[in-house]
Amino acid sequence: MFVDIHTHIDNQSVIKIVDGDVEKILKTVGIHPWKLDRHFDWSEAKWRNLLRLRGVDFSTSVEMTRFFAIGEVGLDKVHKETFEKQLEVFEEMIRLSESCRKPIIIHCVRAYSEIIAARKKKKAVMPWVIHGFNSSVETMRQLLRHNMYISLGEVLYRNENQAIDILKNIPPDRLFLETDVSGRDIRDVYAKAAELMNCDIDFLCRQIFENYGRLETTDTDSGR
Ligand SMILES: [Zn+2]
Repeated sequence: MFVDIHTHIDNQSVIKIVDGDVEKILKTVGIHPWKLDRHFDWSEAKWRNLLRLRGVDFSTSVEMTRFFAIGEVGLDKVHKETFEKQLEVFEEMIRLSESCRKPIIIHCVRAYSEIIAARKKKKAVMPWVIHGFNSSVETMRQLLRHNMYISLGEVLYRNENQAIDILKNIPPDRLFLETDVSGRDIRDVYAKAAELMNCDIDFLCRQIFENYGRLETTDTDSGR
């Protein structure tokens, strides 16, 4: 069983679980920081519409269980001009995550301290996964101290030394793997990580599936 904690299908951010020939797709919903512009109007109606476009209907509470996680959402300092807006939206996403008890898949570029600050400010308790992590072991440790998970993808191929450093230091119960927009097969990503960690692929499969199980909180019918 291979859990791909973050990938995209038809422009939608999803979690994919591959078990032999069977693929299970779990939807995530949220507003990506790149989607924002300075004039983004954070009125209730508008953001609900945005989420509705992604298949979430808030008219009945039953619909709230139709997605597995909030994602991908977060903060990106390469897009500095909208940073304030991003923070505002991210905090709203945290509120949504806490109120419907769903984990968050986080996109973060050069804003790790702001992510941690937002978690403290909102007193968030739901699990957060930092996807596409490619920063230092020290930054990783700070995120782990705040109960976050780390997902690795392209760093395994683009910066092996850094990836080895991260893999050597991460507690296995906080690790995820992903393909994101790379187009790779998730099984190859597991094989690559196992090679760098000098462990079996089976060990990674078991461990990451267990980690995924911890994210699955109140969600009962995410497979729909
Ligand atoms: Zn992505």
